[in-house]
Amino acid sequence: MHFCPQKIIRLAPDRMNPSGYHPAEVVEQERCTSCRICALMCPDVVIEVYR
Ligand code: SF4
Repeated sequence: MHFCPQKIIRLAPDRMNPSGYHPAEVVEQERCTSCRICALMCPDVVIEVYR
């Protein structure tokens, strides 16, 4: 979320995952440049970029 150069990743304000955290979500997907920084920086290595 902090490293996305487009600033299009946020914590979903209206959803919680089974661990009790707000999951990350991409807003304005059309602005994604497929740079994959989010995937490289994700501490849990759970992001894949399809584009
Ligand atoms: S690939 Fe990830 S970091 Fe890069 S613009 Fe898209 S959402 Fe942001």
